[in-house]
Amino acid sequence: MSASQPKVGFVSLGCPKALVDSERILTQLRVEGYDIVPSYDDADVVVVNTCGFIDSAVAESLDAIGEALAENGKVIVTGCLGKRPEVIQQAHPDVLSISGPQDYASVMSAVHLALPPKHDPFIDLVPDYGLKLTPKHYAYLKISEGCNHRCSFCIIPSMRGDLVSRPVDEVLREAEKLARGGVKELLVVSQDTSAYGVDMKYAAREWRGREYATRMKGLCEGLSELGLWTRLHYVYPYPHVDDIIPLMAEGKLLPYLDIPFQHASPRILKLMKRPGAVDKTLERVQRWRAICPELTIRSTFIVGFPGETDEDFEQLLAFIDQAELDRVGAFAYSPVDGAAANALPDPVPEEVKQERLARFMALQAEISEEKLERKVGTVQRCLVDAIDGELAIARSMADAPEIDGLVQIQDGEAAGLKPGDFCDVRIMGSDEHDLFGLVGDDEDL
Ligand code: SF4
Repeated sequence: MSASQPKVGFVSLGCPKALVDSERILTQLRVEGYDIVPSYDDADVVVVNTCGFIDSAVAESLDAIGEALAENGKVIVTGCLGKRPEVIQQAHPDVLSISGPQDYASVMSAVHLALPPKHDPFIDLVPDYGLKLTPKHYAYLKISEGCNHRCSFCIIPSMRGDLVSRPVDEVLREAEKLARGGVKELLVVSQDTSAYGVDMKYAAREWRGREYATRMKGLCEGLSELGLWTRLHYVYPYPHVDDIIPLMAEGKLLPYLDIPFQHASPRILKLMKRPGAVDKTLERVQRWRAICPELTIRSTFIVGFPGETDEDFEQLLAFIDQAELDRVGAFAYSPVDGAAANALPDPVPEEVKQERLARFMALQAEISEEKLERKVGTVQRCLVDAIDGELAIARSMADAPEIDGLVQIQDGEAAGLKPGDFCDVRIMGSDEHDLFGLVGDDEDL
């Protein structure tokens, strides 16, 4: 790479959707001949992709902008917090430009203005799947932007707008390119994966000589043709989720669902304005497991939502106890600036929230630990993420990167494993989060 190329520093904050935005901007920067550099000192200008989901994310974003300004001085801000430019301008009036999420054109114009591109034919050579921030063997696949719901605790629709789905053939072509680039696992992300295609009236598109509907099942059928691991995130329990469970049972899709249930009391779910019918959730989870016993369910919950009574909370505990979810994240409710839930009466006192959170987490830890223990003695298909000394750090079908557990393969290095390899691992032990196992015959852990 030529030393005289214009250099851009990049700070990427927020969720996987924001990460995909960062990847697209980075790809465009590289296509246009910009060097991406890892330090403020080396950069001619810095782009900060912000998150604005909750107050702590706003604070983190403002801190990152401040640091980039102090260290470099030329800063372009984009991402979710860009939807509230007044917050940024008030804290940091010297930023060069502010744009919202997915506004790649505005970011590129601001970069062009601050740092005109130089033409060099050699640096046009970027991979056809673009640049990624994830390791080479897995990638996030964003299928839509925005959301048609109006959950009372969330301001994402006001920042990202209503649902806009990408046509299924476009998504499948991107997945195909990622597969050609060495990706082994696709992580399907959106705000509401179950709603995919509703804005396009589920239009059919052709890919590889066959028609696929722009809807969750059509997408899953197309992705299964690629022979990769496909993992679905942010799925709401609409009735048509039932249609994809058989694909999981047939091994066409990872038997894994990330469903943000958020609560189990119908009264609280109504106050939250959550999508998806909730009355029969437990029966549905049990029916899914009858069709696909391997199914792993990950979820997130909010405890201490305004108006949550002891009875509502007990209902939540009973649900997680009976549903035996595999992986669970939980948060004590905290108000988000601009969210409708802020106007709800009966806030739960902070100490009650914390006490409920601790009880919730203690119960779930027992459930998760017991579920992992049941895997000891089984053989699990795993994908290796890294080699660490003698260990290979891998994930089973039940583990999404970053948020779930790991499988530590004790003889991974001796077995010659590399990141991106698949292998069958005999599970020899477990703890609250992780599994331990061997690929070879040595039982001496
Ligand atoms: S489904 Fe609800 S929580 Fe999720 S992005 Fe839409 S409004 Fe927000």
